Amino acid sequence: MSLFENTLKQIEKAASIMKLDENVKRILSVPQREVEVNLPVKMDDGSLKIFKGFRVQHNNAAGPYKGGIRYHQQVDMGEVKALSAWMTIKCSVVGIPLGGGKGGIIVDPKQLSLGELERLTRAYVRAIEPVIGPETDVPAPDVNTNSQIMDWFADEYSKIRGKDLRGVVTGKSLEAGGSKGRNNATAQGGVYVLEEYAKTVSLNPKETKVIIQGFGNAGGVVAKLLSKAGYEIVGVSDSQGGIFCSQGLNVDELTSCKVEKKSVVNCGGATCKKVSNEELLEQECDILVLAALENQVSAKNAGNIKAKVILELANGPVMPEADEILDKKGIIAIPDILANAGGVTVSYFEMLQNADGKYWSEEEVNPKLKDIMVSAWEEVSANSKKYNCNLRDAAFITSLLRLEQKIREKGLI
Ligand code: NAD
Repeated sequence: MSLFENTLKQIEKAASIMKLDENVKRILSVPQREVEVNLPVKMDDGSLKIFKGFRVQHNNAAGPYKGGIRYHQQVDMGEVKALSAWMTIKCSVVGIPLGGGKGGIIVDPKQLSLGELERLTRAYVRAIEPVIGPETDVPAPDVNTNSQIMDWFADEYSKIRGKDLRGVVTGKSLEAGGSKGRNNATAQGGVYVLEEYAKTVSLNPKETKVIIQGFGNAGGVVAKLLSKAGYEIVGVSDSQGGIFCSQGLNVDELTSCKVEKKSVVNCGGATCKKVSNEELLEQECDILVLAALENQVSAKNAGNIKAKVILELANGPVMPEADEILDKKGIIAIPDILANAGGVTVSYFEMLQNADGKYWSEEEVNPKLKDIMVSAWEEVSANSKKYNCNLRDAAFITSLLRLEQKIREKGLI
């Protein structure tokens, strides 16, 4: 089953519980626009390489399309379509006036020099320039893209249009018009939601062991935030593999070690054992944070998960077939469309600041983010009780109720 089919399955399930208007479901089951581009890039050795890129605009009933750009060797149109649909759903879960989009380029950025990466990014901007803009479609970082890439993006777009249009993209550096708090936003938003959940089960951080899959923007930051809040981090992984340390890990040391030794597998010391990515997910812990890629928990391994709670900072890390098994085992999955919505929320704040030309302090950003995440959590938990369903179905229902209204207001049904 393709990733996009997974997304449709999730929409279908929530739609049948809440009895969503059939035509709303039909509208949301197809993206509004799918763009595929071929990007010629001059390489450092003088050769020319052609890279394939995508931008999918899923739905803009709630506002301009919004969603990150992924640089990865396994990106394809199906994945980008799924990610764009989740963006539409996610923005609506937290009630921000944005729609859903996503982009990607088939590339392993680790194989490119900085200059090649810049030329590739600028070529991508030139190719999709006709369909994006600060009020139409605003990309952002995702896997393997960062503020430097967003700065090139904003610069190239502004050059083409002949004026400063840095609001075309979010996740920029502070110097180029980024928002304070954006770097931490995805993880911070997830932590705010986890704290709300923790209150409902009187969870004590000091007695709670956490495993984190993925140690990039989302995973690396959540490790710092959770460890600061008193949680014990007992396992981590990245694309090279993982380590499990029953005695706990020092996150600051781990972060410096990862920079120095390139992967968490080379860190941790004698009290840690090396494990594969698959093995890490099945180790003893209370909370499993998924912060890498999609399709990590399937029907095959869901039965072996020992965590009581899964916090989904990645998009689509739990497959629909696994949900049923987790439900039966009483494992709570705090779904991606709620748990990782902090990133797009602070991206929205960045759009507001760019339009206004006035910039907020981190002390202003975080309480605004918290308000939005806590309200979304409350709405989703209330819908979970009202419709007697798990948190994923409840988050979809929360989102679809708002989208149905927007689509109706537009006179589309
Ligand atoms: P990133 O590129 O900064 O980090 C990804 C991490 O995952 C890296 O540590 C990488 O080594 C690791 N990884 C890759 N394959 C792995 C595997 N098979 N097993 C274990 N680790 C693996 O990316 P990110 O921005 O942190 O994104 C991670 C996830 O969070 C993605 O699903 C992304 O869509 C989602 N997300 C990110 C944001 C954001 O603001 N960055 C917002 C919402 C959702």
